[in-house]
Parts: sequence; structure tokens; C-alpha cells
Amino acid sequence: MRLCFASNNAHKLDEIRPLLPAHIELLSLADIGCAEELPETQDTLEGNALQKARYVWDNYGVSCFADDTGLEVPALGGAPGVYSARYAGPQRSAPDNVQKLLRELDGSAERAARFRTVIALVSGAADQWTFAGEVPGHITTAPRGEGGFGYDPVFEPENQGRTFAEMTLDEKNARSHRARAVAQLAAFLREQYSVE
Ligand code: IMP
Repeated sequence: MRLCFASNNAHKLDEIRPLLPAHIELLSLADIGCAEELPETQDTLEGNALQKARYVWDNYGVSCFADDTGLEVPALGGAPGVYSARYAGPQRSAPDNVQKLLRELDGSAERAARFRTVIALVSGAADQWTFAGEVPGHITTAPRGEGGFGYDPVFEPENQGRTFAEMTLDEKNARSHRARAVAQLAAFLREQYSVE
């Protein structure tokens, strides 16, 4: 079965490929000849993931899944959430986003947070499903660690005593929100197509 992952991020493709059933031929956007930027204008993770996967199905006729991830902090009303990539402004960098988050939580003891990934699968006009993966944790008071990306230096998963940025890539991937959402997708594909 050919299945497109609506991303050209080679790192994400490499991370996801081994988690899917072996009979799935995973294609990138480049593989299906899609060079345009996918629309991502919704105000929920579910909405954005569905919008991207639906775009590929509608325009290329290939079954597709897409992901969207956000860091949700209850003390900030769920922010940065769906706006995680541009929390400090449209042109800002990951360190800018991290600094804004630390400023917003300055002096606050309520630092609970969770990473949430939603994956949407679209394989027909009316065939669509979503899968979610979450990692609970908290926001540290200062960045720690050199690994990972984005908010990793200030996110400490529950009971780990280390930030995501202090873990190796394999350690992080084994317990990440994205890996958990992909596991849901993989279980669904195995059940749907009754194959390993
Ligand atoms: P995307 O949906 O994967 O593009 O992620 C949206 C934004 O969330 C990114 O720009 C990052 O700032 C942040 N993000 C997503 N996944 C992670 C992660 O695993 N660690 C840290 N930050 C992440």
C-alpha cells in the first residue's frame, strides 16, 4: 500500500518509517510531485492535520497522513498550542519562542504542560480518521540540554528528571508524543488491512 506522509522533513520520515507496518510504502511530498506549501489555516491541531492530508488526497489522489503538534500549557489557557511554531511572532526562532514561554511563566508555580500530536489519515472522499499522542510533563525555569529542537530544552516529561533536550534522539523518540500518535496510526493500519 502506498501512503504519503505530508512532510518533506527527512528526519521525521526516517523516524516514522520503522514504526509503520512493513507493507506500507511511505512516500514524501516530493515523491508524489507536490512542491507547493500545504494549507494550514485552522485553529486546532486536528483541523490543521486534516486540512493538510485532505489537500493531498483531493489534489493528488494518494492516501495520505499529516501531523500537527503543539505544546499546551494549562496555566496559559492552553497556549502556545496550535500556534507553537510562531508563538513569539511569524519570523521568530525556536529560542525566541522558548524565551517568550519562560517570560510568560516567570514566577509561576503552575508549570504543567503537555506535548500533543494529532495525525490525520485521509484515504477517500469520506474516509478520514485522527489519532492523538500526548506526553505530560512540565516547563523548567531555564533551558537545559543540547539535543532535540523547538521547546525540548524546557520540557521535562513526567518522572524523567531530564528535559527532552537532555535525552538522546532514540530515548526521546521512544517516548515522544509523535511516536505515540504514530503507534495509534500503525495499529489502525494493521487492523484495517489485517497484515503485519
Ligand atoms: P510541527 O507541527 O511538527 O511543525 O510542530 C509545530 C511546532 O511545535 C514546532 O515548530 C516546534 O516549535 C514545536 N514542536 C513540535 N514537536 C516538537 C518536539 O518534539 N519538541 C519540541 N518542540 C516541538
